[in-house]
Amino acid sequence: METAELVTFGGSGLDRAEDLRRDPEALAALRARPGARRVLLRAGEPLVEGSEAAPRLARRPIEGAASEGLVFLGREGDEGVWAEAVESAEEGEGRWGDLRGVMARLSPRDAELAATGKAVLGWHTSHGFCSACGTRSRPAPAGWRRDCPSCGTQHFPRTDPVVIMLVTHGNDVLVGRSPGWPEGMFSLLAGFMEPGETVEAAVRREVWEEAGVRVGRVGYLASQPWPFPASLMLGCRGEALTREIAVDPQELEAALWVPRERMMGVFEGRDPEIRAPRHGAIAAFLLREWLADRLD
Ligand SMILES: [Zn+2]
Repeated sequence: METAELVTFGGSGLDRAEDLRRDPEALAALRARPGARRVLLRAGEPLVEGSEAAPRLARRPIEGAASEGLVFLGREGDEGVWAEAVESAEEGEGRWGDLRGVMARLSPRDAELAATGKAVLGWHTSHGFCSACGTRSRPAPAGWRRDCPSCGTQHFPRTDPVVIMLVTHGNDVLVGRSPGWPEGMFSLLAGFMEPGETVEAAVRREVWEEAGVRVGRVGYLASQPWPFPASLMLGCRGEALTREIAVDPQELEAALWVPRERMMGVFEGRDPEIRAPRHGAIAAFLLREWLADRLD
């Protein structure tokens, strides 16, 4: 899919400089430069500045940062950028932005930095103890690993794959809604992959479990890092073999086939019953690309 990396959180080409994570001296030298910067997150919300319409991720000098616990995000030009979890903002302007709320208005680079920082800092918060022996583990210097001082096990940030699928039958696309969603909002079906499963099998299983629809051919379209808290959305397309819907009420409140023409109305905000998925989410992206005939 040609437009795959235009999805929010995708493809800003950040130089993650992975080699520096294993080179404490070079990393310390980068950190000592006057141009070293950090982005701040408070409870997973990034500090942003600028207008509401075009917010920017705030970049603060590295000076004043905690001595450890920072995550090295990568290099922008000659300078390093880190992410730090903080309790409150320091001097300077800025406001805390709910990432789902601001994600589609950030630049691709700022969105990638914010998503990466949120995911890795969140992982440190929820994985403070060694899963092998239960001892409190310690963050490695660059923030991309935790080491157990007792048994020596190294732990790495996890990413949980989720399949999300644009399932079509002729001119119609399958959408559903979960209990508790904003009124009228429908989106593509999605679900966590299971161990031992291929992407294709996960797509077929989830659609069968949630909506009772059989899917035949499956293809990959685009992916989206989704740091809420640690997912990777694998956007796929699938061709339905059956049409009858039988919703699993544990998973979905409703599911329905929506013709292309009606879905255009949904995205133009003129459908009386259905609301489009959130702008910036891969579901909205894939539906728009489908409507525009740009899936190939
Ligand atoms: Zn251990």
